[in-house]
Amino acid sequence: MPRRHAKTPADNAREMPGLILAWYDRHRRSLPWRARPGKRADPYRVWLSEIMLQQTTVVTVGPYFRDFLARWPSVHDLANAELDAVLHAWQGLGYYARARNLHKCARAVSADHGGRFPDSEEDLLALPGIGSYTAAAIAAIAFGRRATVMDGNVERVMARLHAVETPLPAAKPELRKLAAALAPAERPGDYAQAVMDLGATVCTPRKPRCGACPWQDRCIARKLGIAEELPRKSPKAVRPRKHAVVFWLSRPDGSILLQRRPEEGMLGGLMEVPSTPWRAEPWTAREAMKSAPAKAQWRSLDGVVRHGFTHFEIEMTVMAGRALSRAPGGVWSQVDRLSDHALPTLMKKVVRHALAKL
Ligand code: SF4
Repeated sequence: MPRRHAKTPADNAREMPGLILAWYDRHRRSLPWRARPGKRADPYRVWLSEIMLQQTTVVTVGPYFRDFLARWPSVHDLANAELDAVLHAWQGLGYYARARNLHKCARAVSADHGGRFPDSEEDLLALPGIGSYTAAAIAAIAFGRRATVMDGNVERVMARLHAVETPLPAAKPELRKLAAALAPAERPGDYAQAVMDLGATVCTPRKPRCGACPWQDRCIARKLGIAEELPRKSPKAVRPRKHAVVFWLSRPDGSILLQRRPEEGMLGGLMEVPSTPWRAEPWTAREAMKSAPAKAQWRSLDGVVRHGFTHFEIEMTVMAGRALSRAPGGVWSQVDRLSDHALPTLMKKVVRHALAKL
């Protein structure tokens, strides 16, 4: 009987891309921003979808992507749009800094690059809002560059293929090296999307379907029976909690006072129901009143509004009051027109809470 030799890293680099590309040709997901098989993708679509997909799922992004393309079919159109219109269309995708950077980036591509996205990772990285992942994804998918595209899906697949036991995030450099060693010069864009698809549909966080995997014969975690345990993760730090009091001020005509947050900082440029600053200690009523937008008979509504951001969570109590005849200046909105304003998710929760309790 001939002896079977274990595959070397060089064997894997030569053979594994072909295995997954053959799988991709049969099982690729049909996504609205993807080019048809064999066609080069449009950089504008790739960029737009990749920015939207950061921290958000494919299912959520689909309708937003179509809506943006219908409103702003080219990067010039997006560059010429009002920032407010972009922020408004972005509502629900979260992380508004990305929407502002999206707009800045469109302006930079339109004004400085004649509407053509640069084709190298280095030049893409110089644009607003484009980090290493997005630069690599655009370079590979839209321009056919050999690039190492690392996202959570790719990290999981690499950790399992090579049975990397180091927990994330410490394992990231090692996983990147392993991914770079496999990335092929042929069809790099399809390869990048193939690994993403594998992570999203087969090598899933729970219950990976190893029997359907084109790399099952090369996967060490599968052989060891530890696929589902990988990648390991360092225990999460407990998120600190902040507190604020929001002021739901209504006028006799039923409209509600809103204000715009400062351009810089969290949720910059979005609309909000006025509030105290956000701080670590809970507010007493007397302290909070110093931030009230007007004199009124304020009353505290039952319950609290909670919302989680990446690095902290916030707990808000809502005070409701009626503005007297001399209502303060500002943006007043009828309740049924609140959705016309770029309110972040946190403020939508405040609106729902206030309407339920009043
Ligand atoms: Fe993931 Fe299983 Fe494929 Fe390994 S064999 S890469 S664990 S799906």
